[in-house]
Amino acid sequence: MAITRADSQQADQIAQGLADIYGVTIQKDWGEQGAEAVPIPDTWAGGEWSLDELQILQKGVADLARAMGSPDRFTENIGRINISQVEMKHRGLASVHGIKFTASSISIDTWTVVHELAHVWDANSGWRLSKALEFYTGGYTNWVAMLVKKGRGNCDESRRRPGCNRSGYFYGGVPPAGSDQNFNRREDFAESVTSYVYPAEVQRRVDRFKEDDEYQGLLYYADYTQTQRWAFVDGLVKGTIEVSR
Ligand SMILES: [Zn+2]
Repeated sequence: MAITRADSQQADQIAQGLADIYGVTIQKDWGEQGAEAVPIPDTWAGGEWSLDELQILQKGVADLARAMGSPDRFTENIGRINISQVEMKHRGLASVHGIKFTASSISIDTWTVVHELAHVWDANSGWRLSKALEFYTGGYTNWVAMLVKKGRGNCDESRRRPGCNRSGYFYGGVPPAGSDQNFNRREDFAESVTSYVYPAEVQRRVDRFKEDDEYQGLLYYADYTQTQRWAFVDGLVKGTIEVSR
């Protein structure tokens, strides 16, 4: 539901706080029409953002900043970014400049917000963080090796096994929140960060593999904080692991 005139003060406050504290600019699509300096009275228009979504965005940003140690550390890692909603089929699209969320009725949740912010963090490092994670966990990416593995009939139908995804990403260790055909090192990094921020939620996601004969050994763990991926993200956040830019 678009932002109404009655919501606008609260919406403006959230946008202002995100800009002032975290360097996150929301592309504002609500308000009186006309130029910002000369609004035309009684021409209110709400756009794609809802107050709910702004609150979820604010919570995701604050949760990640807390995990990183402070708002300043957040801005250092992520850079100053823009967030907008656009018509597209992906739920979210991250780049070094910020995040575009889909304007469709699929609404965002905090998991998605942190996931996309983690992609921005990776992008801001020249995508070196996900490469470092791949190396740290003993994985590699080899598209030809994927074709060979598939050709020999060693891939599962849902393409969850290492190297069976479209990218030929042979993940090392246990992925943070499962793996499917779209899994690759960038998704691995984004999910590793999100799981670091929301360990209880990711546990619910991997618990579905606990009793699964086929995937228990590949995709289940009992405690995220005991995994290599947790240690990697913790090292980045605490500065004990450095990845040069
Ligand atoms: Zn992603």
